[in-house]
Amino acid sequence: MLMLDKRERLELWKRLGEKIEAYAEGVQAHRVAPELDPAAVRAALAGLDFDAPRGSGEALDFVVEMLWRYQMHTPHPMYFGLFNPAPATLAIAADALVAAFNPQAAAWSHSPFAVEAEQHLIRAFGAKFGFDQTEGTFCSGGTEANHTAVLAALTRAFPDFGRRGVRALAGQPVMYASSESHHSLLRAARVCGLGTDALRSVPVDGAMRIRLDALKEILHRDRKGGSVPFLVVGTAGSTNGGVIDPLPGLAELAGAEGLWFHVDAAWGGAAALSPKLRPHLAGIERADSITFDAHKWLSAPMGAGIFLTRHAGLLERAFAIHTDYMPRDARGLDVLDPYQQSLQWSRRFTGLKVLLPLMVAGWEGYRREIERMAALGDLMKLELEAAGWRIVNSTPLPVACFSGDADPMAVCARVVASGQAWISTTRLGDGGAPVLRACITNYRTGPEDVRALVSALKQARQTLAGTTNGAR
Ligand SMILES: *Cc1c(COP(=O)(O)O)cnc(C)c1O
Repeated sequence: MLMLDKRERLELWKRLGEKIEAYAEGVQAHRVAPELDPAAVRAALAGLDFDAPRGSGEALDFVVEMLWRYQMHTPHPMYFGLFNPAPATLAIAADALVAAFNPQAAAWSHSPFAVEAEQHLIRAFGAKFGFDQTEGTFCSGGTEANHTAVLAALTRAFPDFGRRGVRALAGQPVMYASSESHHSLLRAARVCGLGTDALRSVPVDGAMRIRLDALKEILHRDRKGGSVPFLVVGTAGSTNGGVIDPLPGLAELAGAEGLWFHVDAAWGGAAALSPKLRPHLAGIERADSITFDAHKWLSAPMGAGIFLTRHAGLLERAFAIHTDYMPRDARGLDVLDPYQQSLQWSRRFTGLKVLLPLMVAGWEGYRREIERMAALGDLMKLELEAAGWRIVNSTPLPVACFSGDADPMAVCARVVASGQAWISTTRLGDGGAPVLRACITNYRTGPEDVRALVSALKQARQTLAGTTNGAR
């Protein structure tokens, strides 16, 4: 029952391929945002009778139909959203292959190719960031990678932490990141048992970059008060506005203060693949560890985070637990077991959705796409300004935060409701006013889409101002 017969399998693969192709081909003609109707989705699911199984083709058609209707179409070229890319064609194939072969990447001996391929990629990305040696692990995403960074930093600063926990430490461990850093750090502080108060939110300057003077001041006050600073996080491409913290200054300070220096480059890290953009990340090579998400600007489907560190053996110190039941077939070989180096135990071969597209596009293919999207971001900012919007963030990365004389929430709601595009609103800095936000991480987005967005914004603003006469 769980294995279909050959004729039906062949039919299913064919149908699956057709459905995927129809989506890739047709999504741009579809509205971007779905209807948000929980009752309708639940009613459709309630109509399924698991006591009366249906055919595989019918089941597939149902799911495909539901996906078309009830999801934000992040692969749509007019999705100007939160770094959710259109997946690379070969990455889609990679995820399907991984499901079919189902390698268990927890233990090297169960998946020599998967484990070595991921380690090969980790070293390759480490080299792109300027590390001379790299260890690391694929993660579910940036949140797990940031969590891993906090654990690695704790393990290095407090050798007893792993065995005796936080309570055995002489003082409260504290960590530092700007008020614009990603909130997964707050989560990490909580789930590592430090408590969210342990994350010191450092004020930013007018360009939304961490203030080194304020950081120093808070740090010295903490030390005087008996707390134990152990980690400073720089953001290389903030979620809100693509802001890059002064990484060389942070590296300097971390070195002088004996702190672990982590760089959260979850989406901005892709800039390392462009010689043109790489200088903006200067200082990242001095990091002790880096968070980098392939599922953001590298067009991998969801669930492809990467944690990189230049400290050999540290992940093992942070995570290794010895058991008798895990496979021992690789004993005596010079290899590592990923379950000993990460939060995950059983693990999917996540790296394949990075490896396969990289084999085909090459670094050059990625460089071209990253630079094209960055240039398109510049065009977007120019077009927005020409249409009377004020750009309020400053970044070489393709994200614009902007405001004008209309209520940003209302403009955003209108654009999204029109189905033409998806954008969002946010607030920059402490107590900042709401602004509109549009970001390009989709290789399918082109100049015509940017112009269509600007015109949709214009229309929304005019309608709100009551000055439209139905023209245009
Ligand atoms: C998206 C993001 C994260 C979180 O990553 P997930 O993959 O969503 O878990 C962390 N940091 C930054 C800067 C991000 O943009």
